[in-house]
Amino acid sequence: MSNRDYASKQLKQIQNRIATALSKSARDGSPVTLIGASKRQSSQLIADFYKAGLKDVGENYLQEAIEKRADLTNLDLQWHFIGQIQSNKTKLIAENFSWVHGVDRLKIARRLAQHANPEQPLNLLLQLNIDDEDSKGGVALDKAATLCQQISELENIVLRGFMLIPQARDDFEQQRQPFAVARQTLESVNQQYGLKLDTLSMGMSQDLEAAIAEGATMVRVGTDLFGARKP
Ligand SMILES: *Cc1c(COP(=O)(O)O)cnc(C)c1O
Repeated sequence: MSNRDYASKQLKQIQNRIATALSKSARDGSPVTLIGASKRQSSQLIADFYKAGLKDVGENYLQEAIEKRADLTNLDLQWHFIGQIQSNKTKLIAENFSWVHGVDRLKIARRLAQHANPEQPLNLLLQLNIDDEDSKGGVALDKAATLCQQISELENIVLRGFMLIPQARDDFEQQRQPFAVARQTLESVNQQYGLKLDTLSMGMSQDLEAAIAEGATMVRVGTDLFGARKP
């Protein structure tokens, strides 16, 4: 199979999973954006998927992402930063991405806002540490509302919603639980502060159906889209 055919087949498979999950859900037709989580995948592979129709890519490592962006400047891709954010990297992140998914401190949001282009406000997502894990970034649930309110007052950035990476769970109903909590938190923060957060970045290869059932508007899929990552 040619690389082009491989990319088309893989992309279609994930688009079908998304469409099936949407049709089974009680949602009102709001769309789901597929982000290809492309860490440790080559620029060439990303280009093949772009030609097959992929429009959004998510990268975790800044240096790797900048190199790939340089390889792929001629493609009209939307770039998402989905990795952990170090505060000394905020300038480069603001300059190279249109979405930043892993914001979990006011200081980081302020620095991104400082470096964002006022003509093109940067989209931020607050990362929720949904299972209260030491090993993962993100803000504790009980601190999320206040932080949303503070970040939403900054200029040059637009707080759009939440991103989360729950612990792996096997069973569909169990997978739904953390996603439901994120959706409810978004609704209550919107009510409490009169905000219009509209984005839930949740769901990966193993749990995208459960995330969509609970209202994901963005899913970040790596392995099941591109194939296994290089070690
Ligand atoms: C790698 C990664 C993904 C994709 O994970 P898969 O299990 O390969 O689909 C999604 N989100 C983040 C933040 C990641 O780092």
